Amino acid sequence: MGRLFVESLEGNIYSCKHCKTHLAILEDIVSKVLSPSPFPSLCIYFVNVTLGEKEERMMITGMHIVADIFCVRCGSIVGWKYESAYEKSQKYKEGKFILERYFRLYSIVCNSMEH
Ligand SMILES: [Zn+2]
Repeated sequence: MGRLFVESLEGNIYSCKHCKTHLAILEDIVSKVLSPSPFPSLCIYFVNVTLGEKEERMMITGMHIVADIFCVRCGSIVGWKYESAYEKSQKYKEGKFILERYFRLYSIVCNSMEH
């Protein structure tokens, strides 16, 4: 284990429900632009997460190489990162993060930071 750096985000953020560590900025949830479905959410900007092992995973949109992402503080799984996509039409996802649907609905809280 290295030193733990926990970044704080400003704005409308998603945080880990278990430990309240900030994970993503709401404005960076771009799924509405990229996909008709609001879930799962494709995020550009994530902080305070660690990447798991890369593995091939079959998605609805085809085969991808993905890595699960975990909350850096409590280790909860929060979604996954698209490392690479086989389908040309899915290439835009590469390097982007997904907040897992389940986690977003039930385990990620959206904090509205007014000050
Ligand atoms: Zn956490």
